[in-house]
Amino acid sequence: MSYTLIHKSNSSKARLGKLYTQHGIVKTPVFMPVGTQGTVKTQMFRDIFDCGVQMLCMNAYHLYLRPGLETINKAGGLHKFIGIDKPILVDSGGFQVFSLSKIRKVEDDGVTFGSHIDGSYHKFTPELVSEIQNTLAPDIKMVFDECVAWPSTYAEAERSVKHTTLWAKRCKQLNSGGMLFGIIQGSSYTDLRKRACYELLDIGFDGYAIGGISCGEPKSISYECVQSIIDELPEDKPRYVMGVGTPEDIVEYVKMGIDMFDCVIPTREGRTGRAYTSEGLLVIKNAIYKQDFTPLDPNCDCYACQNHSRSFIRHLFQAGELLGPVLLTLHNIHFYIKLMEKIRENIDKS
Ligand SMILES: [Zn+2]
Repeated sequence: MSYTLIHKSNSSKARLGKLYTQHGIVKTPVFMPVGTQGTVKTQMFRDIFDCGVQMLCMNAYHLYLRPGLETINKAGGLHKFIGIDKPILVDSGGFQVFSLSKIRKVEDDGVTFGSHIDGSYHKFTPELVSEIQNTLAPDIKMVFDECVAWPSTYAEAERSVKHTTLWAKRCKQLNSGGMLFGIIQGSSYTDLRKRACYELLDIGFDGYAIGGISCGEPKSISYECVQSIIDELPEDKPRYVMGVGTPEDIVEYVKMGIDMFDCVIPTREGRTGRAYTSEGLLVIKNAIYKQDFTPLDPNCDCYACQNHSRSFIRHLFQAGELLGPVLLTLHNIHFYIKLMEKIRENIDKS
């Protein structure tokens, strides 16, 4: 399991690469749809893999709380439990502990939180997160990190870097196999971002992620954080900006030299009736589409656009039919996958 850098653009820092995983080769830059509960909401795996999805992003926090480790262990790991044989990356739960749980206490050895499902208390430590990751056995595991809110004080951000480095070291010692990525924190303080980066490089990981982006900060700050460390990262390892983003953001980060992305945008927007098209964002519930018998996007060759009209899909949403979110989500995932293909073609030519 490794990463190979294939080509560097002459006009930006964009890179083409290949990630070799236990479940196949992934061409980068890559976008990973999010499958929080072990499923990409509304979609059959077959349909999204048919439209070119290479890899999925799942979550240790959610799968630990439900269905729980015992069930996944008995099934023989995450791939067997959900019934797919494609590459999966599993985030550690550091972000979910921070964003979903109501009560939490951060200590040097881990984070105590109340489950968002039933309020029960749990303590995530690097030891427990490593056990969860080793049981799920995905292709790529993320270390347990401490994510902080934006804005954070310098002291808070510094503490999160200290914990994240400490826990990253422990996760590396406990990793039973598969690729393990470090996560660079540091909020909007570029000196802390650099420190976090050097400390993780010292430990040595199979890839480097930049966390704490898309936490409500202005875009100029997110870009500055990534730019402050991108040249410090080794060329022969994949770089991943977590939780990004809109198509425009992805294009910007690719130009900065980022290889991997995950985000709920295409699936969440699909469920709420918003379609990404070559002509901009389309809100399907708008009355102007009532008798519009053209496809969502005339330039799209996804199943929804090849077979159905805006009028029919609007009707599905108006009637509360499940097929509406299914078709729009599939179209949005297809849009993101085609965007990444186009990006890779352009890098190859530049
Ligand atoms: Zn389409």
